[in-house]
Amino acid sequence: TGTAGTVLQVCPLLPTLETALAEHHHTVRLAELPDPDAYLRDHGGDVVAAVTSARIGVSNELMDALPGLRAIVHFGVGYETTDVARARARGIDVSNTPDVLTDCVADLAVGALIDVMRRLSAADRFVRRGAWLQDAFPLASKVSGKRVGILGLGRIGRAIARRLEGFDVELLYCSRTPVEDVSYRRVSSPTELAAECDALVVAVSGGGATRGLVSASVLDALGPQGYLVNVSRGSVIDEPALVNALTGGGIAGAALDVFADEPRVPKDLLDLDTVVLLPHIASATHETREAMGELTFRNLHRFMTEGSLLTPVPEH
Ligand code: NDP
Repeated sequence: TGTAGTVLQVCPLLPTLETALAEHHHTVRLAELPDPDAYLRDHGGDVVAAVTSARIGVSNELMDALPGLRAIVHFGVGYETTDVARARARGIDVSNTPDVLTDCVADLAVGALIDVMRRLSAADRFVRRGAWLQDAFPLASKVSGKRVGILGLGRIGRAIARRLEGFDVELLYCSRTPVEDVSYRRVSSPTELAAECDALVVAVSGGGATRGLVSASVLDALGPQGYLVNVSRGSVIDEPALVNALTGGGIAGAALDVFADEPRVPKDLLDLDTVVLLPHIASATHETREAMGELTFRNLHRFMTEGSLLTPVPEH
């Protein structure tokens, strides 16, 4: 049941993962080839599996250049960069790395929520520029006991909610299907969720189905006292509307790990003390990245030796 053929490494990956791929399989690193197009033209038919990051995915063009492709293995949990329906139609299996990054992304979301509400990063800047010598730092907002809305109560959303239980917050959520075994109140729309909470934490999946889900009217419903945290994808938020809300006082503040056009961040946000700006680091710890690398490798290795993936993405 094993699969013979070439493994294509689509983009640079974690060094330990690159080493494991090179040691155990005939792996070609696309980005390191002098002429990738020539390689694909002459040898594209030899490639049976592609390993890529969630950020890069496998483009339709690349998929088309690999007629023998049978598996796409993603490093990362969000895989909206690859057209999964198109892959499936060609009989290509797709995997990601669920669960192993959940703790770190949830830790960061809670940290970011506390940062933006208690203004930790702003206070740090305040001390560094010597302003404490003149003034006391302005008061912030209490976190404990507040109402927090989780948009997308999946693996990460649930881990965020679990952590926040320790802060005695009232938890509400919105996702398309009710989550059975939780006591949090479910509301029917993102607008209703925003209207009912003090802080909205976005943990939905990315891609076309959630594009612009946090719209101008959701931000409006969150209101001038409301905070937003986004650890999902930049595409989920109407970014120009968010910039307007933040610059115009439409919402109180935001902590953002993801943006619409990374690594570019809207210029208007750079000088705002009410915004915490993070460079997409929610899963970026030694421990979690190594665990992601290992799970990526195990998916690929199992596919090459047994013909099936370990953690295939769900049917859509
Ligand atoms: P899950 O698939 O477990 O959770 C996604 C949740 O989103 C599901 O509960 C789903 O519920 C919900 N959802 C999807 N569409 C909608 C919608 N239209 N309205 C409301 N809820 C919706 O994935 P994970 O929790 O593992 O990961 C979530 C996302 O976090 C990833 O897809 C990725 O984009 C992002 N992420 C970001 C990282 C970072 O570095 N910042 C790192 C890792 C992940 P239902 O289907 O019932 O609606």
